[in-house]
Amino acid sequence: MATNLKVAPGKLVSVNPATGETLGQLDCASEPDVREAVARARSAQPKWRELGLPNRVAVLKEWQRVLCEKKSDLAQLITREVGKPYAEALTTEVIVVLDSARFYLDNAYRLLRDEPVAHGNLAMKQKSGRIVREPFGLVGIISPWNYPFATPATESLAALVAGNAVIVKPSEFTPLIMLEFADLLHRAGVPNEIFQVIVGDGSSGAALVNSEIDKLIFTGSVATGKRIGQMAGARLLPVVLELGGKDPMLVLEDAAIDVASSAAVWGAFVNAGQACLSVERCYVHRSIHDAFLAAAVNKSQRLRIGNGMNPGTDMGPMIHHRQLEIVEQHVEDARTRGARVVTGGRRLSELGPNFYAPTVLADVTHEMRIMREETFGPVLPVMAFDTEEEAVQLANDSEFGLGASIFTRDRARGEALARRLATGTVLINDVVCGFGISEAPHGGVKSSGIGRTHGSFGLDEMVNIKYIASDRLPGMKKAWWFPYGPAFARQIEGLLDMQFAGSVKQRVQGAMRSVGCLFGKRL
Ligand code: NAD
Repeated sequence: MATNLKVAPGKLVSVNPATGETLGQLDCASEPDVREAVARARSAQPKWRELGLPNRVAVLKEWQRVLCEKKSDLAQLITREVGKPYAEALTTEVIVVLDSARFYLDNAYRLLRDEPVAHGNLAMKQKSGRIVREPFGLVGIISPWNYPFATPATESLAALVAGNAVIVKPSEFTPLIMLEFADLLHRAGVPNEIFQVIVGDGSSGAALVNSEIDKLIFTGSVATGKRIGQMAGARLLPVVLELGGKDPMLVLEDAAIDVASSAAVWGAFVNAGQACLSVERCYVHRSIHDAFLAAAVNKSQRLRIGNGMNPGTDMGPMIHHRQLEIVEQHVEDARTRGARVVTGGRRLSELGPNFYAPTVLADVTHEMRIMREETFGPVLPVMAFDTEEEAVQLANDSEFGLGASIFTRDRARGEALARRLATGTVLINDVVCGFGISEAPHGGVKSSGIGRTHGSFGLDEMVNIKYIASDRLPGMKKAWWFPYGPAFARQIEGLLDMQFAGSVKQRVQGAMRSVGCLFGKRL
């Protein structure tokens, strides 16, 4: 059966992971192709910027309207190219993009307008200051296969509305979705040069990183992220790195077991566990551990596995065989180190080569790969804890720090605990869905990455923050200019005392010594 890999030099095929059907065969972009695309984008970008925010918003609103019309076609393509159920393609991809567009198009004026800044430093008070947000120019976006629409499309929207040109290099496993997105944008009026897609594998991505882009937004694995960080560092290219996760879920003793177990099952098996924000580790208070485990196992066994185009399907296949093998290795490692496979733990070859059963593991420890490395598959490892302290320590015992979740009926307790977790996001009484909150910044700490996408912080990543300070007294020389001298130094000492000394008396004395300091120089 074909896999979604290069079939011949310079070619790749997109394959439906559920059926093996070939969806398309495409040419990979070579280095000269990438250079040409970059040159086209760079020369077109000033016009897109000069079009102005209201006109860019109007074009993107038209695209948003067209996308809403085409939502079913696009969701079906997502299901066919990645394997996730059609309903999931709608809820975790199409809605996310439409809502992100709603956020950026409704708030762009507020978020991109100049921001006046009041100066506190006495010597700087005569200047009027403002923060100005300007597009970088050309933003490169390199994206993975697991959310092949939501990830690059939301990033592209932020970049485009801010006035940048964009070149996306989608995953070699899911190129068709971004090509469809490009088509919709172009039909709505985004110029072809302003939004381009280059198809290819890692070498096309590397060509983009090394090209004349002004900013790179990379989403993918930690290993590739580190390589890209090095390439970008060598030329000081600003980057956002959205990398892997090993998200913990904490279930406190007062949690609703039925709710928490449903959340764990959805959080571990949505998109067949191939979500950066998946529940990859589940820690449950010992007093409810057995009841929680029984409920989670029961709910996992009721999931319907199959082709995502079938409306009854809850969980589809994994993207490809290599990913499935990683899952097998992690489960095998856990099993040999003493974990109990309570349900699943095997391929579902009868459904196709890429299907793996929803798997729940008990008696896991932090010595096992399943609790340390990103599994990125349908596995829910469950571990008991006794104290809140221990739960925090276990949750933070990871090289990753993307997201986390806490289940408790006590909201204040959950929020206090959330502050102790070393992650970019914490959800209380929900899992995974942080990416669906368009206002929320998305990103991680530790090996999970650098920078943020989504929300106002995501928009700020698409602009150069420029500061303009304009002096209100253009006819006056500044006191701190040459020449210096003993009198000047004494005045400065007085000025410092006037502002920062500990007693009122010292401040008054300082003020007297500083007289004249702020009134400019004669020379
Ligand atoms: P990957 O790192 O293998 O590939 C990601 C992208 O990088 C692909 O487009 C690939 O072609 C490209 N690439 C590969 N080598 C490159 C190179 N040397 N230079 C430039 N580009 C290169 O990741 P993947 O398997 O596609 O995706 C799964 C990973 O993505 C998981 O680790 C997951 O956690 C992570 N992810 C993170 C987020 C997030 O927001 N933090 C979201 C989704 C996925």
